[in-house]
Amino acid sequence: MTTPSPTTAAAPSKAGFGSLPLSPAMLANLQQLGYTEMTPIQAASLPLALLGKDLIAQAQTGSGKTAAFALPLLANLNPRRFAVQALVLCPTRELADQVTVELRRLARAQDNVKIVTLCGGVPLRMQVASLEHGAHLVVGTPGRILDHLQRGTLDLQALNTLVLDEADRMLDMGFFDDMTSVAKQCPRERQTLLFSATYPEGIDKIAKQFLREPQQVKVETKQNAPKIEQRFYEVTRASRLPAVAQLLLHFRPVSTLAFCNTKQRCKELVTLLQGQGISALALYGELEQRERDQVLAQFANRSCSVLVATDVASRGLDITQLEAVINVDISPDPEVHVHRIGRTGRAGEAGLALSLASLDEMGAVGRIEQYQQQPSVWHSLDELKPASSEPLLPPMVTLQILGGRKEKLRPGDVLGALTGEAGYTREQIGKIHVTEFCTFVAVERAIAREAMQRLNAGKIKGRSVKVRTLQEL
Ligand code: AMP
Repeated sequence: MTTPSPTTAAAPSKAGFGSLPLSPAMLANLQQLGYTEMTPIQAASLPLALLGKDLIAQAQTGSGKTAAFALPLLANLNPRRFAVQALVLCPTRELADQVTVELRRLARAQDNVKIVTLCGGVPLRMQVASLEHGAHLVVGTPGRILDHLQRGTLDLQALNTLVLDEADRMLDMGFFDDMTSVAKQCPRERQTLLFSATYPEGIDKIAKQFLREPQQVKVETKQNAPKIEQRFYEVTRASRLPAVAQLLLHFRPVSTLAFCNTKQRCKELVTLLQGQGISALALYGELEQRERDQVLAQFANRSCSVLVATDVASRGLDITQLEAVINVDISPDPEVHVHRIGRTGRAGEAGLALSLASLDEMGAVGRIEQYQQQPSVWHSLDELKPASSEPLLPPMVTLQILGGRKEKLRPGDVLGALTGEAGYTREQIGKIHVTEFCTFVAVERAIAREAMQRLNAGKIKGRSVKVRTLQEL
């Protein structure tokens, strides 16, 4: 990756908003909202963004990132000009709704700022009517924004600011082409603010193509560490792998990443877990790209409970909502251990880090204690009792549609087919991941069989499709 090196590292977090070039009305509004101090990402981004610089900012939900892009775009806004002056692209409707709420709160300081949210799953007609009444700010998902641009119902000629929020998730959801098509329709003279929790390759590509001399803003997220509960269990050679199943059935996490030191151990563990009816998949170096995509899609969309991986294979993996990390083997490198467990407990959620250690790994455990400056907390395997007699099943099931980017299929088309003709609600549908030749869509377990039948019987984009499940039903 060749993103520019960070210009701002951990920023002072105790700064108030008073030091920023904001209007007195905005400062008063922030005061009223109880925003007395900037969050670290705000302190790092706002001085640069308010100077009009393009940004690549690393921030997660809950970090205050919305205000970090909202204040600059509001500062550039002229409410007397009836034209769309800023566009925020978000991966999902839920995020677009959240961003809109926060924008409305922050925009209270200015008169009559009109904000319109444009996402799929809502009739176009109503959105067109809102746009006709004039909008200053638009928040939406890439597919639907592109629809409006193609129909000529949205005009971006007066745009000052383009925001790509959770850009990595938009890439995950197959929105690369839609994002670039939208960005190409914005005026060249503009400010672009890109927010992303991780930097997969696609982000670099987008940054190179659409940002001008971007400043990279990064905040060290050490504050996550205390939210992770670490427990160590002593195991023997014979009890190590069965102990993983015991932990899973006791804690019943929805998504668990289990780290092994070798590929062989990954394979053995997956066989053992599957034998006990726990849905587990292995991720290791030699998988073909196609297999890797399929494994990651199933884990990320919560239709596989456990991903068993080596450290190398898990590089670049961006999975939010990971309830637990299990160290099946202790890493000899304490830094790797901390990196592994840092994958749980993200974005303000509590996480569980469970480590299995045999006597000959106690030296490595000691190094971890020293590195973390905290003693390890030991529990006994005997405490682990199955918390329920129900099998541990993932909440979602992945349907694989044979058809992808080559067929010009977009996430919105699949969502449209399921929420339109097939009659499901948006909440019953999970992640949609479009790859070159096929599309993975997660649906709630309870509707999986029927949803597959309905898709097979119906049409997507006017064409019949073949659909199968990747899991046993
Ligand atoms: P976000 O990460 O943008 O979703 O923001 C998380 C929450 O923090 C939202 O409820 C914001 O209203 C709130 N928030 C953002 N900035 C600040 C701040 N400087 N002080 C207090 N609360 C804030």
